[in-house]
Amino acid sequence: MAALMCICFTGCGETPGASQTQIVLGTVVTVQVYGRQSQEALDGAVEAAMDRARELEQIFSVNIDSSEINYVNQNAAKAPVPVSDDFYTVLERSLYFARLTEGAFDPTLGKLIRLWGIGTDDARVPEPEEIAPLTGRRDYEHVLLDGQAHTVFFENDGFSLDFGAIAKGYAADEMKELLQEDYHITSALLNLGGNIITIGNRPDGKPWTLGIADPSSPQPEENPAVTLQVTNLTFVTSGDYQRYYEAPDGTRYHHILDGSTGYPADSGLSSVTIITQCSMDADALSTASFVLGQEKAQKLLQSINGVEAVFIDTQDQITATDGIRDQLQ
Ligand code: ADP
Ligand code: MG
Repeated sequence: MAALMCICFTGCGETPGASQTQIVLGTVVTVQVYGRQSQEALDGAVEAAMDRARELEQIFSVNIDSSEINYVNQNAAKAPVPVSDDFYTVLERSLYFARLTEGAFDPTLGKLIRLWGIGTDDARVPEPEEIAPLTGRRDYEHVLLDGQAHTVFFENDGFSLDFGAIAKGYAADEMKELLQEDYHITSALLNLGGNIITIGNRPDGKPWTLGIADPSSPQPEENPAVTLQVTNLTFVTSGDYQRYYEAPDGTRYHHILDGSTGYPADSGLSSVTIITQCSMDADALSTASFVLGQEKAQKLLQSINGVEAVFIDTQDQITATDGIRDQLQ
């Protein structure tokens, strides 16, 4: 378990609440809800949100043999494969972000990700000859979606899908929607391994205070570099300190890969945090921004409405987009 939690100061106050923490989607997932409903109702809401996360895990986890993504990866180069609504939605949005970021975020890096194995017991530094055939491919241009038939087809068999950089964001959005629509929750904090999404305000009516981990600290998640107050927003960080492999020579190789080089992204950033409404978008954009580096990422983010970002570079310099700079503490 290398991907841990962001710092959250929740301030539960006197309002009743319910919470649960479980390992889902390969990470620590915590759901906290508050409200004047009965304890039973609050417990039921948390349980239902966790159930939804587990349902999505069965679709998106490459570590579950019977998952939908594994089925698609094994079959979609042979013939179009019909997929679930969840799968279709995430794949369609992933291809959108792959094109928008020119492959900085790329859902077709599955084979390269598996080759490195970072975050698994099989992590290693591959040989350049192994990496070369998996770089510079732009396979996201070779995934065909058929909206009518609801199918996916791969135009070649040289790649596989991996939604590691977007599935947690989608899960966060889905869990939030379920809590709001089906359980009328108006105050909640969900944390999926540092992907945070909030509903409303804290139970005492004040905004949530969220911290951005200090990547240079030995325990980044316990030491916020900055904090800020948010209401009803999501907050997603991609960083080089979360999941990495330390080679025998001491070199650290982190888990966000640059598809154009085949190696861990080396853009001068230690972390990028995206703050916006939609967690799926925030997840894709945090990964893309990390690969692009600050300058290119800032240019890209400026073109998208309602998206703010905080960058921490490898020299510990903190920079934020205009819309959020004044709110950092
Ligand atoms: P985290 O998993 O810590 O939340 P990210 O959202 O940045 O961080 O996702 C990283 C994961 O996404 C990797 O573990 C891998 O599965 C996958 N991945 C790695 N590099 C890329 C990339 N350039 N584009 C899309 N997915 C990637
Ligand atoms: Mg991401």
